[in-house]
Amino acid sequence: MRVLTFMMMMILALSSRSAYAAADLGLPKILKQGGLYVGKIEPNEKVFWKGKELKLSKEGYFTFGLNWREKGEIQFKYVDKKGYAKFPKFKVSPVKYNVQIINGLPKKFISPPKEALIRIKKDGKLVRLSRKINSDLLGFTQKFIWPVRGRISGRFGGHRILNGKEMRPHTGFDIAAPKGTKIIAPISGRVTMAADLYYTGNTIVIDHGHGVSTVYCHLDTAVVKVGDTVMQGVKIGTVGSTGRATGPHLHWGMNWFGVRLNPELMLP
Ligand SMILES: [Zn+2]
Repeated sequence: MRVLTFMMMMILALSSRSAYAAADLGLPKILKQGGLYVGKIEPNEKVFWKGKELKLSKEGYFTFGLNWREKGEIQFKYVDKKGYAKFPKFKVSPVKYNVQIINGLPKKFISPPKEALIRIKKDGKLVRLSRKINSDLLGFTQKFIWPVRGRISGRFGGHRILNGKEMRPHTGFDIAAPKGTKIIAPISGRVTMAADLYYTGNTIVIDHGHGVSTVYCHLDTAVVKVGDTVMQGVKIGTVGSTGRATGPHLHWGMNWFGVRLNPELMLP
């Protein structure tokens, strides 16, 4: 009798655990604003968010990013391999953002001259296009490494006051390092944009698959070109201060399609 009870308890424990494992989608219980997340389900299952089916790799990986101001709870629709739907919910925890005050920027970067506006518009379009790519690459499933080591000189989401004028929040993570310091790819991917842009200077965008991309700005030199495959850890360029920068640093950004994410949350 005792053995039987024990066995029943084990079966119960195991079955409830597997039910839980399926509904958690391989995600942490609490998600952070501005975070990039990678979940895993069975390859023949489905997951939807905000009415859209998320791209699933043949291994069952999917990814999504949370807006830096996402609040409360988010809910997915998860359809298991038998066709049953579940609606798992996840809490979103807020992140504290600070104010960033920068003075001494050249005037042309605060109120750009008329002739620069066309270029700025063209630059924006180029970057936006690169962020629409929805490739099958799986770099996003890797653990990030720092693209460059140095002093953190600006955090993501900081509300900014440039030369006394209130600007849009900072959408990247700034690492200050001497000019010429090597920058490496923090995860593997493919270069989808490499150009000299008005605000961000020499800029590279890397696609990591499923809408995840990263951007590297103000480079002194870029050593990769569009179409290049970059493995995690390989050199992509060097730190500089091209574009709107007061000193040599890497402005590092991360996106899930058009959603700007906080790269700092990915760092070890
Ligand atoms: Zn920056």
